[in-house]
Amino acid sequence: MIDNPGMREFGIVDAEDGLAGSHADIGTLAAGCRYRDCSHTGEPGCAVLAALDSGAISRAHYENYLKLRDESAFYRMSHAERRQKDRDFGKYIKSVKKDLRDN
Ligand SMILES: [Zn+2]
Repeated sequence: MIDNPGMREFGIVDAEDGLAGSHADIGTLAAGCRYRDCSHTGEPGCAVLAALDSGAISRAHYENYLKLRDESAFYRMSHAERRQKDRDFGKYIKSVKKDLRDN
């Protein structure tokens, strides 16, 4: 096995799959949170914390979810930065096209 950046990309996909797969129940509960960007760690009206309180989901399951989410959030951060760069490049292309039209 050769270690290369591509292999790490597979790891990212696994983490995302784990979040959507084994924690699909929490994802479903999250739809009932008051805030769309709820972090499920103390916001009022959080449906995930309510389910945790009522025993609908176990604390271990919840904590595992937070751990997985934090790991994939770390990767998403760099994805967001990449998207920002793409947007900047798009603006650049637009300004070039505008220059071409103006001339
Ligand atoms: Zn929540």
